[in-house]
Amino acid sequence: MLQNRPPIIVILGHVDHGKTTLLDYLRKSNVAARESGGITQHIRSFQLIAKDQQLMTFIDTPGHSAFAAMRARGSNVADIAVLVVAADDGVMPQTKQSVEFIKHAQIPYLVALTKSDLPTSNPDKVKTQLTEIGVVVEDFGGDISCVIVSGKTGAGIPDLLETLSLLSQLHPNKTDPSGQLQAVVLESSLDSKKGPLATLIIKNGTLKVGDALPLGKVRALIDSNGQNIKEALPSTPVEILGLNIVPAVGSQIGQEIAPSPVNQPLSHESIEPLLSIILRADVAGSLEAILSSLPPLVNVLGSGTGDFVETDVDRAKTGSAVLVGFNVKVTNAVAKLAEVDKVKIYNFKIIYELLDQIDKLTHSQITETIQGKAEIIAQFKIGPDRIAGGRVTEGIIQKNAKIRLVRGDTIIGDTRLKSLKAGKADVTSVKSGLEFGAVFSPYLDFRVADHIIAIES
Ligand code: GDP
Repeated sequence: MLQNRPPIIVILGHVDHGKTTLLDYLRKSNVAARESGGITQHIRSFQLIAKDQQLMTFIDTPGHSAFAAMRARGSNVADIAVLVVAADDGVMPQTKQSVEFIKHAQIPYLVALTKSDLPTSNPDKVKTQLTEIGVVVEDFGGDISCVIVSGKTGAGIPDLLETLSLLSQLHPNKTDPSGQLQAVVLESSLDSKKGPLATLIIKNGTLKVGDALPLGKVRALIDSNGQNIKEALPSTPVEILGLNIVPAVGSQIGQEIAPSPVNQPLSHESIEPLLSIILRADVAGSLEAILSSLPPLVNVLGSGTGDFVETDVDRAKTGSAVLVGFNVKVTNAVAKLAEVDKVKIYNFKIIYELLDQIDKLTHSQITETIQGKAEIIAQFKIGPDRIAGGRVTEGIIQKNAKIRLVRGDTIIGDTRLKSLKAGKADVTSVKSGLEFGAVFSPYLDFRVADHIIAIES
C-alpha cells in the first residue's frame, strides 16, 4: 500500500558557507537520537523529528561530484534541497552550480541564508544576487522561500524546519514499504575488519537483516545513531554489513531500478567514463541487477538480453569498448570476429565475479597511465580558492595534470590542477617526497587523507 515517506533533504551550497555547521546543529537538536542513547554520530546522514512530529531525513553527500554521480546513475536521491548561502559572502561559483543541480533534478527547494549572526551579514544584498541567477525569493516577488539562519547560534532553525515541513506537505512522496526494495548508495568504504561497508538510503520497500541482495547478504543494519536495527523503512539512512563488494556511491541496490542507460550515453557531468562496455545477460532481471550495480564510471554503450551477436563486436570496436556477458553464449563467429578486431570478451556465470572483473578493469585503466600519486595532508583557503596541501608519495605531480580524487575505495571525480605551488613559488611539477599546494579546476570537494592520482593525458 502506498504511504507517505519522510522527505529526504540535501544541503547544497558553496564551500565554507556553513553546510556542515548547519547539519551539525540539526543533528544535535535531534531529540530522537538523544532519547535512544546514541549521541555519537555513526553515519553522516540522519533523521530528525520536527515539532509537528514530522520525520525528516537529512543526507550529507560527500560533495558535488558524488551528487553528480548519483544523478548520472539515475538516482535522484533527494526530494528537497536546501540551498545554503552565507549571508556575509553571497552568491559564489558553487552556489550557481548548486542551483543548476537543483533545477536539473527538478526538486523543490528553499534558500537558507546562513551566518546571519555575523555583523557583516547582509541578507538583502544576497537576495538581490540570487535574483540575478534566477532564484527569486518570496519577499522579492518570487516563489522560493528564504529563511535566515545561523548554524552557530541556532537562530532561524525552527523557521527552517517549519518551511521544510510545509514544502514536503506540498510535495508528498509516496512509497510502498512492502514493495520492492530500491535503495541508493550514499557512502561506501572498505573496512579492514568489517569488509565492504555502505550507507544506503531506502527509497522504496524495506531492507531487512538476512535479505539476499545481488551484492551480498545483509548481515547487519546500523542506523545513524549506531544502533543495530532489524529493518530499515523508506527514507531511512542505514549502514549495511555483509556485502561482497564495495558498491559505488550513487549506484542503486534493489530489484526495481530507474531506467537503465540502455543504448544511450550517460550524462557524466565532470566525471569521465573509465571503461566502456557492451553488456549482455540471459534475462532482463539479471541485466537490470548488473546495470544497477555498475560503478558510475562505467559507460554502457549498449545492453540487452540474449547471446552476443557480430554487430556487438563492431560496436565495441568503434566505441573502444569491451564485451561483458552474463550467462550468455559466445558463438564461434563472434569469437573469431572479436579476435580479428581485437575486442575483448568477458563472460561470467556468477554476478559477483562479473562485477569484480569490472572493478579490476576500471582500476587497471587508472594504473595504466599513472604519472604520480599524492596524499592530501592539509587544506586552507586563500582568497576564493580552497587549496589542497599535499605530499607526493610516488612519481611526479605536474601542473595542469589530469587528476583523479579518490577517497578510500570511492572515486570522487576527475579534475585538473589549475595551480601548483611548492612553498610560495609557482612550479610546474613536484617530485616524490615533496609537499605542494594545489587548486582544483573544476572544483572537487576534497578532504584531508584523500588521495590524488595524476594521470597522463
Ligand atoms: P561548509 O564547507 O559549507 O560545510 O562550511 P562549514 O560548516 O564547514 O563552515 C565554514 C566556516 O564557517 C566554519 O569556520 C564555521 O565555523 C563557520 N560558520 C558556519 N556557519 C556559521 C554561522 O552560522 N555563523 C558563524 N558565525 N560562522 C559559521
